[in-house]
Amino acid sequence: MDVIKKVKQRVYKFGNKTADGNSKMKNLLGGKGANLAEMSAIGIPVPPGFTITTEVCTEYNTLGQSSVIALIKKDVEQAIAYIEKQRKATYGDKENPLLISVRSGARVSMPGMMDTVLNLGLNDEVVSGLAKRTNNKEFAWDSYRRFIQMYGDVVLGMKPDSKEEIDPFEEIIENLKHKRGIELDTEFTVQDLKELVDDFKNAVKKRTGHDFPTDPWDQLWGAIIAVFDSWNSNRAIYYRNMNGYPADWGTAVNVQAMVFGNMGNNSGTGVCFTRDAGTGENVFNGEYLINAQGEDVVAGVKTPQQITKLGSERWAEIATIGESERLEKYPSLEELMPEVYEELQNIQDKLEKHYRDMQDMEFTIEEDKLWILQTRNGKRTGAAMVKIAMDLLSEGTINEKEALLHIEPNKLDELLHPIFDPKALKRATVIAHGLPASPGAATGRIVFFADEAKKYESSILVRLETSPEDLEGMNIAKGILTARGGMTSHAAVVARGMGKCCISGAGALKINYKKRALTIDGNEYKEGDWISLNGSTGKVIEGKVATVEPKLNGDFADLMALTGKYAQMKVRTNTDAPKDARVARNFGAEGIGLTRTEHMFFEGDRIKAMREMILADTTKGRKQALDKLLPMQREDFEGIFEAMDGFPVTIRLLDPPLHEFVPHELTTQKELAEEMHISLEAVKSKVSDLEEFNPMLGHRGCRLGNTYPEITEMQTRAIIEAALNLKKRGITCKPEIMVPLIGTVEEYEMQEGIIRSVVTAVFEERNDSIEYLVGTMIEIPRAVLVAAKIAEKAEFFSFGTNDLTQMTYGYSRDDAGKFLPIYIEKGILKVDPFEVIDEEGVGELIKMGVQRGRSAKPDLKIGICGEHGGEPNSVEFCYNTGMDYVSCSPYRVPIAKLVCAQAAIKASM
Ligand code: PEP
Ligand code: MG
Repeated sequence: MDVIKKVKQRVYKFGNKTADGNSKMKNLLGGKGANLAEMSAIGIPVPPGFTITTEVCTEYNTLGQSSVIALIKKDVEQAIAYIEKQRKATYGDKENPLLISVRSGARVSMPGMMDTVLNLGLNDEVVSGLAKRTNNKEFAWDSYRRFIQMYGDVVLGMKPDSKEEIDPFEEIIENLKHKRGIELDTEFTVQDLKELVDDFKNAVKKRTGHDFPTDPWDQLWGAIIAVFDSWNSNRAIYYRNMNGYPADWGTAVNVQAMVFGNMGNNSGTGVCFTRDAGTGENVFNGEYLINAQGEDVVAGVKTPQQITKLGSERWAEIATIGESERLEKYPSLEELMPEVYEELQNIQDKLEKHYRDMQDMEFTIEEDKLWILQTRNGKRTGAAMVKIAMDLLSEGTINEKEALLHIEPNKLDELLHPIFDPKALKRATVIAHGLPASPGAATGRIVFFADEAKKYESSILVRLETSPEDLEGMNIAKGILTARGGMTSHAAVVARGMGKCCISGAGALKINYKKRALTIDGNEYKEGDWISLNGSTGKVIEGKVATVEPKLNGDFADLMALTGKYAQMKVRTNTDAPKDARVARNFGAEGIGLTRTEHMFFEGDRIKAMREMILADTTKGRKQALDKLLPMQREDFEGIFEAMDGFPVTIRLLDPPLHEFVPHELTTQKELAEEMHISLEAVKSKVSDLEEFNPMLGHRGCRLGNTYPEITEMQTRAIIEAALNLKKRGITCKPEIMVPLIGTVEEYEMQEGIIRSVVTAVFEERNDSIEYLVGTMIEIPRAVLVAAKIAEKAEFFSFGTNDLTQMTYGYSRDDAGKFLPIYIEKGILKVDPFEVIDEEGVGELIKMGVQRGRSAKPDLKIGICGEHGGEPNSVEFCYNTGMDYVSCSPYRVPIAKLVCAQAAIKASM
């Protein structure tokens, strides 16, 4: 009973330029209801109606049908009388009938999840009245048969018996078409429509055991209850669970007067946009049909015409239609109904200014009278999104903060990579799906081995998975496709860093390296065959698809400049190549948050010296090999420091297990044995010595530097010597030396000791010095727990959330691809925790690490360098924990910068 007492108003009316509700009441009236109320209140002509609140849905779920009907009966009857008065027609009247629609509408849009019924109020007598009043029998009987069909489906459960069977009403329609020898619904005569109505009603009786309800009030209550029930339909529950929408939100019910665009040549219907949703151009545009209903535009039975004269002329040019034919057959609404057009033009302007964003609207013209049925913020491409926000800003419609909040971070990505030509994409055949690991579009010929990527001018490297040895080939290939691995697999991380398109974990691929072929669902694709990858959607496409280069025009640059004005947290980049560092800097990166030094060991001859170091049995042997690597590393660091002149550069000491660097194939093992003048057996035995049961938890990270200090010594020397060399050339280097994978303070202390003594020695040798920091990654849960102790020693923390997620969940980064998609499908996980920070678990550890670290050292510099550093939700989370910076792959920098600005704006509101 408590529920009942609290509720003040259950039914909210709108229409005739007034409304009980407004657009801020989305929780109570649902998105649709709130917008209808708002439009009516600001004087937009919307068909009159009312909204039964979401609270009533919750009451229905607890109290049941009869109690709820009793609660709202009087209000609903009064609201119907209100509509009748506006429309000068009566619900259920035989002479002058009012028809109504009943639609669902939750607080958020749940497309297609819940139900709608149109044309309520019809029965055998009312239909004749409607035919007489409109002088249009066809219209009246077609409306009636559509009503029985929709009501039968939604309210009476007239669904197909099994998925193999067709809809029971469609079956009847098909049979009649067959009998008449016709193809289209529009070819039915009035007599046919009457026959359909009879057959539909018989089918209802046969299936449900009851007559189709003829009383308009029974129809209305049946539809209202059906909409409430649809909140708990299997598909709505699934959608709610998937998006985390709670069951107690409920849906509102919108009851509205029907308006008809199919009442003759002075009627019509259409869809329009206040700006171009594809390009963002500030031109009003849209399509309409004369004497038609909404579904006809979608069904494509007639060719829709353009609303504006300009649009119509542009359309005619593309369709190669001459001006006289255009004017005669396809005139614009502007030319055909100038007065209605002018009203529509004024309304679109008013709505855009009112909602302060591009609007997508639906309208109907009923006998020269314009009605707006819906408005919402229009969907748009990434390019249009940026242009529209910056145009609205310069036109003075919105302010800078609003412009920044108008941008959907992930959509910026579309602007940064080559994209498929939308026209070509329409004809494409999708052959497999994987994870959208690195966005962009790539088209090329299949190669299965990284060292063969050069074989074709454009190649796509297809592998079960990639390894550091494949780096060069990955760089050459236009795109990378792997059958295994997740969002933080080697392929995914490296590809994102390179800004290269990549799809990982496409499980349907069966790769046969020997045959140089892959099969998908029994179809074979061989080396040299063309395929295309859409890294933004994870779709693998057969053949060649044309691409177009992105244009980072003035609006994009202006937007980026604006982010700098509001962002408080800094954005750095993860990279180990000067070229990529420059790309990131151009996008606005303010330093490097992670240089993975291991990638540098694979280029050219370096791998040989690296292998020599690994295969050496003595410290002396290792040192000799490291001496060969020193100048190369120094050169690498010089390149990176130069590209980031003036900004901090975090360089991480060697991290991956050593087995990744040794050859596993016999031919390369033989080559190595010859080069090093040792036996093949010795090489083989060393390789097998390095095998680990669980390399992710094995001899890696600081464990390498603590067991082989000479590696840390060489790397530190290379970093400091490079910085001092550049200092001489007037370049400002700010090295931050980072120790990976510590779990105890002692592990850190040992590494720090080695680093500091090498730095002191180099400073003395050179008789020069430079500012530098020594810090650590926090990527093992134990490091979080002892963060206060570590912070007493370390000068900075960088959260390695790839490993932290791996070790917190106990999910192997390399093997999670086998079960994560299934976990997400089954709802065990909402999202991939390697992609979006798991705030509940891993996030708690991050907060704890920040808090404990700063409790020991209040000004401790803290950042994140795991892949999450470029994911919008995670960046916002990092901002809220008080981090100083996030670091992400170069092509995520603009996204992270935008989110930093948005997070700061939201926090200040
Ligand atoms: C991490 O673990 O988050 C990290 C950045 O290091 P890597 O991915 O190289 O292990
Ligand atoms: Mg790590």
